Amino acid sequence: MTTGKIFDVIVVGGGPVGSRIAYRVARAGYNIGVLEQKKSYKNPVCCTALVSQECVTHFELPREMISNSFSSARIFSPHGREIRIRRNSIQAFALQRPAFDYELAGRGDERGGGIFFGI
Ligand SMILES: Cc1cc2nc3c(=O)[nH]c(=O)nc-3n(C[C@H](O)[C@H](O)[C@H](O)COP(=O)(O)OP(=O)(O)OC[C@H]3O[C@@H](n4cnc5c(N)ncnc54)[C@H](O)[C@@H]3O)c2cc1C
Repeated sequence: MTTGKIFDVIVVGGGPVGSRIAYRVARAGYNIGVLEQKKSYKNPVCCTALVSQECVTHFELPREMISNSFSSARIFSPHGREIRIRRNSIQAFALQRPAFDYELAGRGDERGGGIFFGI
């Protein structure tokens, strides 16, 4: 890879963890580059992307990224028995995972770093 840039830190893997680390390191004042082997964050994505309210709040996720919310669930045992759970408040959110990945990756760009795909 040739970018002409010099980075203080390189993160290998632009998943949620790599992107979050990139964000934190950039906030600490370092120029960081993320190398991601995928060509993009487009579908298909191997993740249901169900997260808690705590996740949405902690990561300050924009509402547009949330495709659905849930206050109940049906759980099936291997023998077909069913348990139904219902709460009065929302317990989980389904995110648009590619949008989530883009959002987190973009946050690490603060000091002119960036994510490099297809590496
Ligand atoms: C079917 C499925 C359903 C899931 N459902 C949920 C759910 O509902 N809710 C939830 O919270 N979690 C869910 N998860 C888990 C969630 O996807 C993972 O916890 C999360 O993606 C882990 O993030 P990560 O950054 O550690 O790893 P990853 O998301 O795996 O990211 C690692 C990145 O590193 C890249 N990479 C690896 N090696 C290299 C290399 N040598 N060079 C360059 N790039 C590299 C990979 O391409 C990848 O993009 C699900 C997972 C699966 C498989």
